[in-house]
Amino acid sequence: MRTVLFWFRRDLRLTDNTGLAAAVASGARVIPVYILSTWKKHHGWTGPKRLQFLCGCIESLSRNLDSIGSRLIIRAGDAVEELHKLAQETQAEAIYFNRDPDPFGKSVETRLANTSPIPCHSYKDAVLHEAHEVLTGSGGPYRVYTPYSKNWLALEKPQPQPAIKTLGPAAETHIHSHPLPTLAWWDLQPQADAQLPTPGERAARERMKAFIQSQRLTAYKEQRDIPSIAGTSFLSPDLRFGLISIRELYAHSLPDLTYRKELGWREFYIALLHHYPEVLERDFNPDYARVQWPGTEGGLEAWTTGKTGFPIVDAGMRQLIQTGWMHNRVRMIVAMFLTKDLHFHWKVGEQFFHQHLIDAEIASNNGGWQWSAGTGADAAPYFRIQNPWSQTKRYDPEGKYIKHWLPELAHVPAEKLLDPPTLRLAKDYPLPIVDHTTQRDYTLERFKLGKKPS
Ligand SMILES: Cc1cc2nc3c(=O)[nH]c(=O)nc-3n(C[C@H](O)[C@H](O)[C@H](O)COP(=O)(O)OP(=O)(O)OC[C@H]3O[C@@H](n4cnc5c(N)ncnc54)[C@H](O)[C@@H]3O)c2cc1C
Repeated sequence: MRTVLFWFRRDLRLTDNTGLAAAVASGARVIPVYILSTWKKHHGWTGPKRLQFLCGCIESLSRNLDSIGSRLIIRAGDAVEELHKLAQETQAEAIYFNRDPDPFGKSVETRLANTSPIPCHSYKDAVLHEAHEVLTGSGGPYRVYTPYSKNWLALEKPQPQPAIKTLGPAAETHIHSHPLPTLAWWDLQPQADAQLPTPGERAARERMKAFIQSQRLTAYKEQRDIPSIAGTSFLSPDLRFGLISIRELYAHSLPDLTYRKELGWREFYIALLHHYPEVLERDFNPDYARVQWPGTEGGLEAWTTGKTGFPIVDAGMRQLIQTGWMHNRVRMIVAMFLTKDLHFHWKVGEQFFHQHLIDAEIASNNGGWQWSAGTGADAAPYFRIQNPWSQTKRYDPEGKYIKHWLPELAHVPAEKLLDPPTLRLAKDYPLPIVDHTTQRDYTLERFKLGKKPS
Protein backbone atom coordinates (compact mmCIF):
# COMPACT_ATOMS: atom_id res chain seq x y z
CA MET A 1 0.00 0.00 0.00
CA ARG A 2 1.41 3.42 -0.90
CA THR A 3 1.99 5.35 2.32
CA VAL A 4 2.94 8.93 3.20
CA LEU A 5 3.49 10.58 6.59
CA PHE A 6 1.72 13.71 7.75
CA TRP A 7 3.64 15.47 10.52
CA PHE A 8 1.30 17.42 12.85
CA ARG A 9 2.98 20.42 14.45
CA ARG A 10 1.10 23.63 15.28
CA ASP A 11 -1.93 22.60 13.19
CA LEU A 12 -3.74 20.14 15.46
CA ARG A 13 -6.97 19.88 13.46
CA LEU A 14 -8.62 17.94 10.64
CA THR A 15 -10.64 20.82 9.19
CA ASP A 16 -9.02 23.05 6.58
CA ASN A 17 -5.51 21.75 7.19
CA THR A 18 -3.54 22.51 4.01
CA GLY A 19 -0.72 19.98 4.35
CA LEU A 20 -3.03 17.22 5.52
CA ALA A 21 -5.39 17.83 2.59
CA ALA A 22 -2.41 17.66 0.21
CA ALA A 23 -1.25 14.38 1.77
CA VAL A 24 -4.74 12.92 1.29
CA ALA A 25 -4.86 14.23 -2.29
CA SER A 26 -1.67 12.27 -3.05
CA GLY A 27 -3.90 9.20 -3.08
CA ALA A 28 -1.69 7.33 -0.61
CA ARG A 29 -2.66 6.09 2.84
CA VAL A 30 -1.69 8.86 5.33
CA ILE A 31 -0.05 8.03 8.66
CA PRO A 32 -0.43 10.98 11.02
CA VAL A 33 2.43 11.61 13.45
CA TYR A 34 3.13 14.02 16.30
CA ILE A 35 6.59 14.33 17.82
CA LEU A 36 6.91 15.39 21.42
CA SER A 37 9.66 17.85 22.21
CA THR A 38 12.25 16.79 24.75
CA TRP A 39 12.30 20.21 26.42
CA LYS A 40 12.37 19.73 30.14
CA LYS A 41 11.19 22.00 32.91
CA HIS A 42 14.46 23.92 33.10
CA HIS A 43 13.80 25.23 29.59
CA GLY A 44 13.22 28.94 30.12
CA TRP A 45 10.26 29.18 27.75
CA THR A 46 8.31 26.14 28.95
CA GLY A 47 5.40 26.29 31.35
CA PRO A 48 2.83 23.83 32.68
CA LYS A 49 -0.29 25.70 31.54
CA ARG A 50 0.57 25.77 27.85
CA LEU A 51 1.80 22.19 27.87
CA GLN A 52 -1.28 21.03 29.77
CA PHE A 53 -3.38 22.62 27.04
CA LEU A 54 -1.17 20.99 24.39
CA CYS A 55 -1.63 17.55 26.02
CA GLY A 56 -5.40 18.02 25.81
CA CYS A 57 -5.14 19.07 22.17
CA ILE A 58 -3.09 15.99 21.27
CA GLU A 59 -5.57 13.76 23.07
CA SER A 60 -8.46 15.35 21.23
CA LEU A 61 -6.65 15.06 17.87
CA SER A 62 -5.96 11.41 18.59
CA ARG A 63 -9.67 10.79 19.30
CA ASN A 64 -10.69 12.63 16.13
CA LEU A 65 -8.29 10.51 14.09
CA ASP A 66 -9.62 7.31 15.70
CA SER A 67 -13.13 8.37 14.71
CA ILE A 68 -12.14 8.40 11.01
CA GLY A 69 -10.42 5.01 11.26
CA SER A 70 -6.88 6.31 11.55
CA ARG A 71 -4.36 6.24 14.44
CA LEU A 72 -2.10 9.03 15.62
CA ILE A 73 1.49 7.86 16.01
CA ILE A 74 3.21 9.74 18.79
CA ARG A 75 6.98 9.74 18.98
CA ALA A 76 9.36 11.65 21.24
CA GLY A 77 12.79 13.08 20.58
CA ASP A 78 14.51 14.83 17.71
CA ALA A 79 11.86 15.42 15.03
CA VAL A 80 14.16 14.77 12.08
CA GLU A 81 15.47 11.47 13.47
CA GLU A 82 12.02 10.29 14.47
CA LEU A 83 10.52 11.12 11.07
CA HIS A 84 13.35 9.24 9.34
CA LYS A 85 12.77 6.20 11.56
CA LEU A 86 9.01 6.19 11.10
CA ALA A 87 9.34 6.66 7.35
CA GLN A 88 11.57 3.58 7.20
CA GLU A 89 9.29 1.50 9.43
CA THR A 90 6.23 2.33 7.35
CA GLN A 91 8.00 2.40 3.97
CA ALA A 92 6.57 5.89 3.50
CA GLU A 93 7.33 7.48 0.17
CA ALA A 94 7.02 11.13 1.28
CA ILE A 95 6.60 13.39 4.30
CA TYR A 96 3.98 16.14 4.29
CA PHE A 97 3.80 19.00 6.77
CA ASN A 98 2.79 22.63 7.21
CA ARG A 99 5.51 25.23 7.54
CA ASP A 100 6.17 26.69 10.98
CA PRO A 101 6.84 30.43 10.91
CA ASP A 102 9.08 30.28 14.02
CA PRO A 103 12.87 30.27 13.63
CA PHE A 104 13.21 27.01 15.60
CA GLY A 105 10.57 25.26 13.55
CA LYS A 106 12.15 26.54 10.36
CA SER A 107 15.59 25.22 11.30
CA VAL A 108 14.12 21.73 11.86
CA GLU A 109 12.43 21.90 8.44
CA THR A 110 15.73 22.79 6.78
CA ARG A 111 17.51 19.91 8.53
CA LEU A 112 14.74 17.54 7.49
CA ALA A 113 14.81 18.70 3.87
CA ASN A 114 18.62 18.39 3.75
CA THR A 115 18.77 14.88 5.17
CA SER A 116 15.58 13.15 4.08
CA PRO A 117 16.02 10.31 1.59
CA ILE A 118 12.35 10.72 0.56
CA PRO A 119 10.60 13.88 -0.73
CA CYS A 120 9.34 16.39 1.84
CA HIS A 121 6.35 18.54 0.88
CA SER A 122 5.69 21.65 2.96
CA TYR A 123 2.71 24.02 2.87
CA LYS A 124 1.66 27.48 3.98
CA ASP A 125 -0.99 27.04 6.66
CA ALA A 126 -0.34 29.03 9.83
CA VAL A 127 -0.71 32.39 8.11
CA LEU A 128 -2.70 33.96 5.30
CA HIS A 129 0.43 35.49 3.79
CA GLU A 130 3.99 34.42 4.43
CA ALA A 131 6.69 37.01 5.05
CA HIS A 132 7.97 37.08 1.47
CA GLU A 133 4.46 37.74 0.10
CA VAL A 134 4.06 41.15 1.76
CA LEU A 135 6.92 43.41 0.74
CA THR A 136 7.41 47.12 0.07
CA GLY A 137 7.40 48.53 -3.47
CA SER A 138 11.18 48.09 -3.61
CA GLY A 139 10.91 44.45 -2.49
CA GLY A 140 12.11 44.91 1.08
CA PRO A 141 10.41 44.10 4.39
CA TYR A 142 8.11 46.57 6.14
CA ARG A 143 9.33 47.93 9.49
CA VAL A 144 6.07 49.71 10.37
CA TYR A 145 2.63 48.15 10.77
CA THR A 146 0.30 50.62 8.99
CA PRO A 147 1.77 50.36 5.46
CA TYR A 148 2.26 46.61 5.98
CA SER A 149 -1.38 46.16 6.92
CA LYS A 150 -2.63 48.17 3.92
CA ASN A 151 -0.73 45.86 1.60
CA TRP A 152 -1.66 42.74 3.62
CA LEU A 153 -5.39 43.58 3.64
CA ALA A 154 -5.44 44.22 -0.10
CA LEU A 155 -3.98 40.82 -1.04
CA GLU A 156 -6.33 38.08 -2.14
CA LYS A 157 -6.88 35.64 0.71
CA PRO A 158 -6.62 31.85 0.42
CA GLN A 159 -9.97 30.12 0.90
CA PRO A 160 -10.84 27.44 3.49
CA GLN A 161 -11.20 23.79 2.48
CA PRO A 162 -13.61 21.18 3.89
CA ALA A 163 -12.74 18.76 6.70
CA ILE A 164 -10.88 15.54 5.95
CA LYS A 165 -13.13 12.45 5.96
CA THR A 166 -10.54 9.66 5.78
CA LEU A 167 -6.80 9.12 5.82
CA GLY A 168 -7.03 5.52 4.70
CA PRO A 169 -6.26 2.51 6.91
CA ALA A 170 -4.62 3.10 10.30
CA ALA A 171 -0.94 2.33 10.91
CA GLU A 172 -0.35 -1.36 11.61
CA THR A 173 -0.35 -2.34 15.26
CA HIS A 174 3.38 -3.12 15.32
CA ILE A 175 4.12 0.55 14.56
CA HIS A 176 4.95 1.86 18.00
CA SER A 177 3.26 4.94 19.43
CA HIS A 178 4.27 6.73 22.63
CA PRO A 179 1.36 7.00 25.12
CA LEU A 180 -0.64 10.22 25.11
CA PRO A 181 1.57 12.75 26.87
CA THR A 182 1.03 14.19 30.31
CA LEU A 183 3.00 16.95 32.02
CA ALA A 184 5.22 14.31 33.59
CA TRP A 185 6.88 13.90 30.18
CA TRP A 186 8.36 17.39 30.62
CA ASP A 187 9.01 16.88 34.38
CA LEU A 188 6.28 19.40 35.17
CA GLN A 189 3.39 19.37 37.64
CA PRO A 190 -0.10 20.62 36.75
CA GLN A 191 -0.89 23.99 38.31
CA ALA A 192 -3.63 23.21 40.82
CA ASP A 193 -5.65 26.44 40.50
CA ALA A 194 -5.22 26.87 36.73
CA GLN A 195 -8.42 27.71 34.83
CA LEU A 196 -7.69 26.71 31.25
CA PRO A 197 -9.95 26.72 28.20
CA THR A 198 -11.17 23.35 26.91
CA PRO A 199 -8.51 22.00 24.54
CA GLY A 200 -9.08 20.48 21.10
CA GLU A 201 -10.54 21.27 17.71
CA ARG A 202 -14.20 20.91 18.62
CA ALA A 203 -14.00 23.28 21.61
CA ALA A 204 -12.03 25.78 19.52
CA ARG A 205 -14.65 25.69 16.76
CA GLU A 206 -17.34 26.34 19.36
CA ARG A 207 -15.37 29.33 20.64
CA MET A 208 -15.03 30.65 17.08
CA LYS A 209 -18.72 30.14 16.42
CA ALA A 210 -19.68 31.82 19.68
CA PHE A 211 -17.60 34.87 18.79
CA ILE A 212 -18.80 35.17 15.23
CA GLN A 213 -22.48 34.42 15.73
CA SER A 214 -22.94 36.57 18.83
CA GLN A 215 -22.81 40.35 18.96
CA ARG A 216 -19.19 40.16 20.05
CA LEU A 217 -17.75 40.46 16.55
CA THR A 218 -19.97 43.42 15.62
CA ALA A 219 -19.23 45.09 18.96
CA TYR A 220 -15.50 44.28 18.76
CA LYS A 221 -14.38 47.76 17.77
CA GLU A 222 -16.12 49.35 20.78
CA GLN A 223 -15.51 46.63 23.34
CA ARG A 224 -12.12 45.14 22.64
CA ASP A 225 -10.29 47.50 25.00
CA ILE A 226 -12.50 46.87 28.03
CA PRO A 227 -10.87 44.07 30.01
CA SER A 228 -13.87 43.40 32.28
CA ILE A 229 -16.08 42.16 29.43
CA ALA A 230 -15.70 39.37 26.89
CA GLY A 231 -15.06 41.91 24.15
CA THR A 232 -12.36 39.99 22.28
CA SER A 233 -12.43 36.57 20.64
CA PHE A 234 -10.17 34.60 23.07
CA LEU A 235 -9.01 32.66 20.02
CA SER A 236 -5.27 33.25 20.42
CA PRO A 237 -4.54 29.80 21.98
CA ASP A 238 -6.58 28.19 19.20
CA LEU A 239 -4.56 30.01 16.55
CA ARG A 240 -1.34 29.17 18.39
CA PHE A 241 -1.99 25.43 18.21
CA GLY A 242 -3.85 25.53 14.91
CA LEU A 243 -7.11 24.23 16.37
CA ILE A 244 -8.86 26.56 13.94
CA SER A 245 -7.60 27.70 10.58
CA ILE A 246 -6.69 31.31 10.01
CA ARG A 247 -8.39 31.15 6.59
CA GLU A 248 -11.68 30.11 8.14
CA LEU A 249 -11.46 32.70 10.89
CA TYR A 250 -10.65 35.46 8.42
CA ALA A 251 -13.47 34.44 6.08
CA HIS A 252 -15.96 34.39 8.96
CA SER A 253 -14.79 37.71 10.35
CA LEU A 254 -15.69 39.65 7.21
CA PRO A 255 -16.64 42.46 7.02
CA ASP A 256 -15.25 43.57 10.40
CA LEU A 257 -12.17 45.59 9.48
CA THR A 258 -10.95 46.19 13.03
CA TYR A 259 -10.82 42.48 13.78
CA ARG A 260 -9.13 41.66 10.48
CA LYS A 261 -6.51 44.31 11.22
CA GLU A 262 -5.73 42.56 14.51
CA LEU A 263 -5.16 39.34 12.59
CA GLY A 264 -2.82 41.45 10.47
CA TRP A 265 -0.76 42.37 13.56
CA ARG A 266 -0.14 38.68 14.14
CA GLU A 267 1.25 38.27 10.62
CA PHE A 268 3.19 41.54 10.82
CA TYR A 269 5.12 40.26 13.84
CA ILE A 270 5.64 36.88 12.19
CA ALA A 271 7.06 38.69 9.16
CA LEU A 272 9.29 40.90 11.34
CA LEU A 273 10.72 37.86 13.08
CA HIS A 274 11.34 36.23 9.71
CA HIS A 275 13.18 39.22 8.28
CA TYR A 276 14.89 40.26 11.50
CA PRO A 277 15.45 37.07 13.53
CA GLU A 278 18.00 38.97 15.61
CA VAL A 279 15.11 40.65 17.48
CA LEU A 280 15.04 37.62 19.77
CA GLU A 281 18.43 38.70 21.07
CA ARG A 282 18.46 42.46 20.72
CA ASP A 283 16.36 45.60 20.28
CA PHE A 284 14.56 45.97 16.95
CA ASN A 285 15.53 49.64 17.01
CA PRO A 286 19.34 49.68 17.30
CA ASP A 287 19.30 53.32 18.48
CA TYR A 288 18.51 52.15 21.98
CA ALA A 289 21.12 49.41 22.35
CA ARG A 290 22.94 51.39 25.05
CA VAL A 291 19.89 52.17 27.20
CA GLN A 292 20.36 50.81 30.74
CA TRP A 293 17.80 48.52 32.37
CA PRO A 294 18.82 48.41 36.05
CA GLY A 295 15.57 46.92 37.43
CA THR A 296 14.06 47.88 40.79
CA GLU A 297 14.86 45.89 43.89
CA GLY A 298 11.97 43.59 44.80
CA GLY A 299 10.15 44.78 41.68
CA LEU A 300 10.27 41.53 39.77
CA GLU A 301 8.88 39.45 42.60
CA ALA A 302 6.07 41.98 43.11
CA TRP A 303 5.28 42.05 39.39
CA THR A 304 5.28 38.28 38.88
CA THR A 305 3.08 37.66 41.90
CA GLY A 306 0.65 40.53 41.25
CA LYS A 307 1.62 42.53 44.34
CA THR A 308 2.90 45.83 43.01
CA GLY A 309 0.15 47.90 44.65
CA PHE A 310 -0.98 49.04 41.17
CA PRO A 311 -4.36 47.28 40.99
CA ILE A 312 -4.67 47.16 37.18
CA VAL A 313 -1.17 45.66 36.89
CA ASP A 314 -1.76 43.13 39.65
CA ALA A 315 -5.15 42.12 38.25
CA GLY A 316 -3.54 41.43 34.88
CA MET A 317 -0.75 39.37 36.37
CA ARG A 318 -3.19 37.31 38.44
CA GLN A 319 -5.31 36.69 35.35
CA LEU A 320 -2.18 35.51 33.52
CA ILE A 321 -1.06 33.21 36.32
CA GLN A 322 -4.46 31.60 36.79
CA THR A 323 -5.69 31.35 33.22
CA GLY A 324 -2.63 31.52 30.95
CA TRP A 325 -4.24 34.41 29.09
CA MET A 326 -4.37 38.17 29.63
CA HIS A 327 -6.40 40.87 27.94
CA ASN A 328 -4.41 42.75 25.28
CA ARG A 329 -4.94 46.19 26.83
CA VAL A 330 -3.67 44.89 30.15
CA ARG A 331 -0.72 43.09 28.49
CA MET A 332 0.40 46.52 27.27
CA ILE A 333 -0.10 48.07 30.71
CA VAL A 334 1.85 45.40 32.62
CA ALA A 335 4.60 45.30 30.00
CA MET A 336 5.09 49.07 30.07
CA PHE A 337 5.01 48.94 33.83
CA LEU A 338 7.78 46.33 34.03
CA THR A 339 9.99 48.10 31.52
CA LYS A 340 9.24 51.77 32.25
CA ASP A 341 8.20 51.89 35.92
CA LEU A 342 10.35 49.04 37.22
CA HIS A 343 13.11 49.39 34.58
CA PHE A 344 13.57 45.71 33.74
CA HIS A 345 14.73 44.69 30.28
CA TRP A 346 11.91 43.50 28.02
CA LYS A 347 13.54 40.05 27.80
CA VAL A 348 12.65 39.47 31.45
CA GLY A 349 8.96 39.99 30.79
CA GLU A 350 9.06 38.20 27.45
CA GLN A 351 10.36 35.07 29.16
CA PHE A 352 7.84 35.23 32.01
CA PHE A 353 4.97 35.64 29.54
CA HIS A 354 6.29 32.74 27.51
CA GLN A 355 6.27 30.50 30.55
CA HIS A 356 2.70 31.42 31.47
CA LEU A 357 0.76 32.25 28.29
CA ILE A 358 -1.11 29.40 26.62
CA ASP A 359 -1.08 31.48 23.44
CA ALA A 360 2.67 32.24 23.66
CA GLU A 361 3.82 32.99 20.13
CA ILE A 362 7.49 33.80 19.75
CA ALA A 363 6.81 36.55 17.20
CA SER A 364 3.81 38.29 18.84
CA ASN A 365 5.30 38.05 22.29
CA ASN A 366 8.62 39.53 21.23
CA GLY A 367 6.83 42.18 19.15
CA GLY A 368 4.46 43.08 22.00
CA TRP A 369 7.28 43.36 24.50
CA GLN A 370 9.55 45.42 22.29
CA TRP A 371 6.65 47.70 21.34
CA SER A 372 5.82 48.23 25.01
CA ALA A 373 9.45 48.79 25.99
CA GLY A 374 9.88 51.44 23.31
CA THR A 375 12.57 49.50 21.44
CA GLY A 376 10.30 47.84 18.87
CA ALA A 377 8.39 48.47 15.66
CA ASP A 378 6.35 51.40 16.88
CA ALA A 379 5.78 54.54 14.89
CA ALA A 380 5.55 56.47 18.21
CA PRO A 381 8.80 57.26 20.00
CA TYR A 382 9.98 55.82 23.32
CA PHE A 383 8.31 58.56 25.33
CA ARG A 384 4.95 56.84 24.86
CA ILE A 385 4.70 55.90 28.54
CA GLN A 386 1.26 54.87 29.69
CA ASN A 387 0.20 55.89 33.18
CA PRO A 388 -1.39 52.84 34.89
CA TRP A 389 -3.76 55.12 36.85
CA SER A 390 -5.02 56.96 33.75
CA GLN A 391 -5.35 53.62 31.96
CA THR A 392 -7.54 52.38 34.82
CA LYS A 393 -9.75 55.48 34.61
CA ARG A 394 -10.16 54.96 30.89
CA TYR A 395 -10.58 51.19 30.62
CA ASP A 396 -11.78 49.97 34.03
CA PRO A 397 -13.41 53.01 35.66
CA GLU A 398 -15.76 50.91 37.81
CA GLY A 399 -12.97 48.57 38.86
CA LYS A 400 -14.86 45.50 37.63
CA TYR A 401 -11.82 43.83 36.11
CA ILE A 402 -9.65 44.71 39.10
CA LYS A 403 -12.15 43.38 41.62
CA HIS A 404 -12.64 40.16 39.70
CA TRP A 405 -8.94 39.27 39.81
CA LEU A 406 -8.10 40.90 43.15
CA PRO A 407 -10.76 39.64 45.57
CA GLU A 408 -8.99 41.42 48.40
CA LEU A 409 -10.16 44.70 46.82
CA ALA A 410 -13.76 43.58 46.25
CA HIS A 411 -15.14 45.99 48.85
CA VAL A 412 -12.99 49.01 48.02
CA PRO A 413 -15.03 51.82 46.41
CA ALA A 414 -14.15 52.01 42.69
CA GLU A 415 -13.01 55.63 42.82
CA LYS A 416 -10.24 54.64 45.23
CA LEU A 417 -8.73 52.37 42.58
CA LEU A 418 -8.19 55.22 40.15
CA ASP A 419 -5.41 57.21 41.84
CA PRO A 420 -2.33 56.31 43.90
CA PRO A 421 -3.55 55.68 47.48
CA THR A 422 -1.75 57.07 50.51
CA LEU A 423 -3.13 54.37 52.82
CA ARG A 424 -3.42 50.65 52.10
CA LEU A 425 -6.57 49.82 50.13
CA ALA A 426 -6.96 46.56 52.07
CA LYS A 427 -5.15 44.81 54.88
CA ASP A 428 -3.55 42.26 52.53
CA TYR A 429 -2.84 44.59 49.69
CA PRO A 430 0.42 46.58 49.41
CA LEU A 431 0.88 50.28 48.80
CA PRO A 432 2.24 51.09 45.32
CA ILE A 433 5.87 49.98 45.25
CA VAL A 434 6.94 52.98 43.16
CA ASP A 435 5.73 56.44 42.24
CA HIS A 436 4.74 56.47 38.56
CA THR A 437 5.71 60.11 37.87
CA THR A 438 9.20 59.69 39.33
CA GLN A 439 9.78 56.47 37.38
CA ARG A 440 8.50 58.02 34.17
CA ASP A 441 11.05 60.83 34.47
CA TYR A 442 13.78 58.31 35.18
CA THR A 443 12.85 56.30 32.07
CA LEU A 444 12.95 59.41 29.89
CA GLU A 445 16.39 60.12 31.33
CA ARG A 446 17.57 56.53 30.70
CA PHE A 447 16.48 56.68 27.09
CA LYS A 448 18.00 60.12 26.54
CA LEU A 449 21.33 59.00 27.98
CA GLY A 450 21.42 55.66 26.13
CA LYS A 451 20.03 56.80 22.80
CA LYS A 452 22.43 56.80 19.85
CA PRO A 453 23.28 60.44 19.09
CA SER A 454 21.49 61.60 15.92
C1 LIG B 1 3.48 42.33 25.79
C2 LIG B 1 2.57 41.59 24.85
C3 LIG B 1 2.78 40.24 24.62
C4 LIG B 1 1.94 39.53 23.75
N1 LIG B 1 2.17 38.19 23.56
C5 LIG B 1 1.38 37.49 22.69
C6 LIG B 1 1.61 36.11 22.46
O1 LIG B 1 2.55 35.50 22.99
N2 LIG B 1 0.75 35.45 21.63
C7 LIG B 1 -0.29 36.09 21.01
O2 LIG B 1 -1.04 35.44 20.28
N3 LIG B 1 -0.49 37.40 21.19
C8 LIG B 1 0.29 38.12 22.01
N4 LIG B 1 0.04 39.45 22.21
C9 LIG B 1 -0.99 40.13 21.41
C10 LIG B 1 -2.40 40.16 22.02
O3 LIG B 1 -2.34 40.59 23.34
C11 LIG B 1 -3.12 38.82 21.96
O4 LIG B 1 -3.04 38.28 20.65
C12 LIG B 1 -4.60 38.94 22.33
O5 LIG B 1 -4.72 39.50 23.61
C13 LIG B 1 -5.25 37.58 22.27
O6 LIG B 1 -6.58 37.63 22.70
P1 LIG B 1 -7.78 37.44 21.68
O7 LIG B 1 -7.58 36.20 20.89
O8 LIG B 1 -9.04 37.58 22.45
O9 LIG B 1 -7.55 38.68 20.73
P2 LIG B 1 -8.52 39.40 19.70
O10 LIG B 1 -8.58 40.83 20.06
O11 LIG B 1 -9.78 38.67 19.57
O12 LIG B 1 -7.70 39.33 18.35
C14 LIG B 1 -7.81 38.25 17.42
C15 LIG B 1 -6.46 37.70 17.10
O13 LIG B 1 -5.64 38.69 16.47
C16 LIG B 1 -4.28 38.51 16.87
N5 LIG B 1 -3.85 39.72 17.58
C17 LIG B 1 -4.62 40.63 18.20
N6 LIG B 1 -3.86 41.63 18.69
C18 LIG B 1 -2.58 41.32 18.39
C19 LIG B 1 -1.33 41.96 18.63
N7 LIG B 1 -1.23 43.14 19.25
N8 LIG B 1 -0.22 41.35 18.21
C20 LIG B 1 -0.28 40.17 17.55
N9 LIG B 1 -1.43 39.52 17.29
C21 LIG B 1 -2.56 40.10 17.70
C22 LIG B 1 -4.25 37.31 17.77
O14 LIG B 1 -3.93 36.18 17.00
C23 LIG B 1 -5.68 37.24 18.31
O15 LIG B 1 -6.05 35.95 18.71
C24 LIG B 1 0.89 40.19 23.08
C25 LIG B 1 0.68 41.55 23.34
C26 LIG B 1 1.51 42.24 24.19
C27 LIG B 1 1.27 43.71 24.44
